[in-house]
Amino acid sequence: MSSVVVVGNGMVGSRFVEELTSRDVENRFEVTVLGAEEYHPYNRVMLSEVVAGKADLLGLELPRRDGQARVHRGETVTAIDRGRRLVMTGSGSVGYDVLVLATGASARIPPVAGLHGELPAGVHPLRTLDDAREIVAATTNATRAVVVGAGVLGLEVACGLARRGLAVTLVHGGRGVMDRQLAPGAGQVAQAGLASLGVRCWTETRLQAVRAVAGRVATVAVEGCPPGGAPDDGPAAAELDADLVVLACGTTPEHAIAGAAGLATGRGIRVGADLASPSDPGVYAIGDCAEPPEGSSGLIAQGWEQARRLAIRLTESASLAEVGGGGRPSLAVRVGTVSVAREMRGPSTGSPAVAGSDVVTVKAAGLDIVAMGVCGSRHLDAAHRVLRLDDPGAHRHVEVVVADGQLVGATCVGSPDLAADLVATYTRRTPVPSDPAMLFLRPAAPSTTTATGPEQMPPRATVCSCNSVPKSEIVDSWHAGARSVADVARATRATTGCGGCTATVCGLLEWLSASAHPPASHDGHAPREDDVTERQPRPHPSETAHS
Ligand SMILES: Cc1cc2nc3c(=O)[nH]c(=O)nc-3n(C[C@H](O)[C@H](O)[C@H](O)COP(=O)(O)OP(=O)(O)OC[C@H]3O[C@@H](n4cnc5c(N)ncnc54)[C@H](O)[C@@H]3O)c2cc1C
Repeated sequence: MSSVVVVGNGMVGSRFVEELTSRDVENRFEVTVLGAEEYHPYNRVMLSEVVAGKADLLGLELPRRDGQARVHRGETVTAIDRGRRLVMTGSGSVGYDVLVLATGASARIPPVAGLHGELPAGVHPLRTLDDAREIVAATTNATRAVVVGAGVLGLEVACGLARRGLAVTLVHGGRGVMDRQLAPGAGQVAQAGLASLGVRCWTETRLQAVRAVAGRVATVAVEGCPPGGAPDDGPAAAELDADLVVLACGTTPEHAIAGAAGLATGRGIRVGADLASPSDPGVYAIGDCAEPPEGSSGLIAQGWEQARRLAIRLTESASLAEVGGGGRPSLAVRVGTVSVAREMRGPSTGSPAVAGSDVVTVKAAGLDIVAMGVCGSRHLDAAHRVLRLDDPGAHRHVEVVVADGQLVGATCVGSPDLAADLVATYTRRTPVPSDPAMLFLRPAAPSTTTATGPEQMPPRATVCSCNSVPKSEIVDSWHAGARSVADVARATRATTGCGGCTATVCGLLEWLSASAHPPASHDGHAPREDDVTERQPRPHPSETAHS
């Protein structure tokens, strides 16, 4: 039996354990999980919804299918001894044959006066369940909030706090909000949308200091472009009153123990396409702590796909080991040298291996922003054709990027229906019309069967991008008895990530049940055989002996 030690019991570490133990039908792995947090694994993605008052902390626990794994919660790994193949914790050491690092990332705290050392009361990052709980508790008495950082998380938090009735100021160093994903035109429209929700934005603004009185935050000193200011006005300085400050300034991959153990690190823990460290074929890194060749997206779909891929790799390598005889190198070395089965990137489009895994949807009430693929500051090349619909009067901006007859990127602000169509086109990799301007058009007449209606979706269309679940799998689960969103989630995992696909799953369930009990006038749109023939079956824990 090989000993697999997983460091980190977050969204990706716990998913890896589930994927590995469910495949390990012959009990070839002894799995130990060491997680610093005291909690059972929970859905970190939904913490901004908790801050907004749209989700409850109690509902965030992820389904646990860790089978026969030994899980130690509240146990921090302090060092790795690669020579002796041990990980050290405060209470001892654990030996491993294969080490999987899933240590995630931590919130970046800007190095300014007032934020060195312990944070003043009222200042919080948002990364953990404890952070979310403290922010929600602080909103009871706070009236003025400053959110530092206008990336996706900053916008979600700002809108969430505004929804709770706080006066919110967003402070951002870049030229415009979400400038990684949004080009300037789109950013301006997004900013106008924020203003309509009562969120004031300081852009191109340096955070100078966070000042506290009697240990509690009182003001935030900034210098930059104030709300409504023109770039030519020059920078303005201000002390913004605040009784709550949320830091949404990006994340830093947790690679300290890896670096100290001599494993290659850059921004994260460097791994090859096989997810193994180039420094040690027996050590892997997955999720937010990893730096794979294609870069880390910081999105859950990438981490969950890595978890699945590594579990398949380890179980397949273990099978190979049984076929082979003695005198072979250790399992860890064999696992590290098995060739890579999958290409990580499409050759011409640069799109990710998992369709839709780079779709960014802002979860903010009243603000519709979706960006995917080539967008914002991402590099455009000569092969890219860009079309824009700029309609600031209607708080709308849509941009599509086309190459080789496919949609390779899009930005949609203030146009949720069109965004849904574009996500569908992007994730299905559907050929675009010969005139890509047609992508901006939706059927003018009201219709019960829009381009994104469940009956129109091809079986392989991705419904849940976080978990890469196609429509065919949801149809299968319905045929196997799933009748509610919770049933579908249990069977396929759809809806268990960011939750953005819940409406589509509901639509599919309604369509399937209407098709099973058609009214007299029904037009015959029952689920057809070809809806379920193009399946992409994936082994699922519930179908194995170790679920
Ligand atoms: C508020 C918020 C909203 C988000 N929204 C989205 C979204 O809409 N879509 C999306 O795709 N992604 C989103 N994300 C990102 C997503 O949550 C991460 O991609 C995901 O959590 C990464 O999982 P992970 O397991 O790699 O890291 P984590 O979930 O961070 O888990 C890492 C775990 O390892 C533990 N650990 C670290 N070091 C050690 C150690 N030395 N010993 C033991 N344990 C250790 C940590 O305590 C933690 O529990 C969001 C994140 C946040 C914070």
